[in-house]
Amino acid sequence: MENWKGWLENWYEEQVEVRHRLHRNPELPYEERETTRFLKEQLTAWGIQVEELPGLETGVSAVIEGAHPGPMLVLREDIDALPILENTGLDFASQRSGVCHACGHDVHTAALLYAARALNALRGELHGSVKLIFQCAEEVGSGAYKMLEAGALRDCQPQAVVGFHCAPLLELGKIGVRRGPSNASFDIFTWTITGRGGHGAYPQRCVDPVVVSAHLITQLQTVVSRFNNPTHPAVLTVGEIHGGTAPNIIPDQVTMRGAMRAFDEGLRQEMLKQIGQITRDCCAALGAKGEVTRDVGIPSIISDPEIADGVARAVEESLGQEHLHWVPEPSMGSDDFSVWMEACGGRGVQFQVGTHDPACPNSGLGIHVAENIFPDEALRYAAPVLVQFAVDYLGK
Ligand SMILES: [Zn+2]
Ligand SMILES: [Zn+2]
Repeated sequence: MENWKGWLENWYEEQVEVRHRLHRNPELPYEERETTRFLKEQLTAWGIQVEELPGLETGVSAVIEGAHPGPMLVLREDIDALPILENTGLDFASQRSGVCHACGHDVHTAALLYAARALNALRGELHGSVKLIFQCAEEVGSGAYKMLEAGALRDCQPQAVVGFHCAPLLELGKIGVRRGPSNASFDIFTWTITGRGGHGAYPQRCVDPVVVSAHLITQLQTVVSRFNNPTHPAVLTVGEIHGGTAPNIIPDQVTMRGAMRAFDEGLRQEMLKQIGQITRDCCAALGAKGEVTRDVGIPSIISDPEIADGVARAVEESLGQEHLHWVPEPSMGSDDFSVWMEACGGRGVQFQVGTHDPACPNSGLGIHVAENIFPDEALRYAAPVLVQFAVDYLGK
């Protein structure tokens, strides 16, 4: 195998420049046009085949065909930014007011781009192919589905998917890997409770959706406490409630929004059913009409143990054993990386790249925090693990 680690070393400054460029020009979900254009240009310039995704303006799918037959591995990262006003004081801070890369997706994108460059130069030695997915709109939970609908995996059956996420709670230089349940599923709901409005003095002529929604919120607490198996974590939160205009008027309608997170797919489906039933029946019992729609739904990430062991080996080979960190606990946070896993028969791992530099306290604040800094040095650890895993997976 050629000295790809040396190549990545040589490209490091360039990779940092790319990361800064992306960071200065963050783009919201489904608006990642500049990023998409830049990635397509760069990949094409290196001779990597970019695929057309009809009907999808943002996000990039590309493929590196190895010289020898073999399985297909998907490497997936995300490219979108968040509606947050950056407050890092970095000299490469966002130049778009109110939008910034507070989830580290600029680091993800730059790392995958240079991993792709190395793998393309190694294609003569690869047995199989690498599908590169630069996914749009991760933050709104629908980008992965949109790219699949547009045909990102059309005419191919990939065997596994690997990617990473920056981890501000993990020390810089560490790579976090986990087997089994890793990230929760995520379902967002909108409830509409329709009653019959009127004067607050004459409730007998009305159906009060405020009172009904209060009952509904209380009933919804039983979804996790009574319908979930308590040995499997789950949480349902109603985070918004809107209704009414005056203290003496009973409104016609109340709307609410909330989200559920869980790990076990069977229990998730059971609880989804229960949310529908409680909404209908609880509201009906009080004379109102209750409707619930699911706006977004992505499954949990259950890391495949074999792939996890493969990633751990890749960490040891490419960086050294001291860089490997077995993540002790799952997270209730979610990522639509899970959708790609589902498309690969569950065979996937999203590892963590530590970004907490003890010398820079603001690097440990957390994702989605306006002040959090993701150090450039994370790029020294991310791309090598991606390349090493791919090289091992597509070895003979
Ligand atoms: Zn995020
Ligand atoms: Zn993210």
